[in-house]
Amino acid sequence: MSCNHLDGLKPIAPQSSGCEECLRSGMKWVHLRLCLSCGHVGCCDSSPGRHATAHARDTKHPVMASFQPGERWAWCYVDEQQLPVPGPFEPYLR
Ligand SMILES: [Zn+2]
Ligand SMILES: [Zn+2]
Ligand SMILES: [Zn+2]
Repeated sequence: MSCNHLDGLKPIAPQSSGCEECLRSGMKWVHLRLCLSCGHVGCCDSSPGRHATAHARDTKHPVMASFQPGERWAWCYVDEQQLPVPGPFEPYLR
């Protein structure tokens, strides 16, 4: 089985420079994830807030990419599968 959740997604600029929810509530994050559907920046599952996973669950946006400097991978929550980052999204990663 292969993931087709990247189909039709258009590159979109990150909406914040840190986890949106953590910035609002003064929480700390460990790593950041970028939603490839809407540009939401959320924190990883090692962070207290786990806001990237919460965002995927609440919005049904399927694919998050690592928003860590130099890291290039994406994750589909629906297929639970790691994906390569599509070229057009590269400029928006760190
Ligand atoms: Zn998928
Ligand atoms: Zn967070
Ligand atoms: Zn999203």
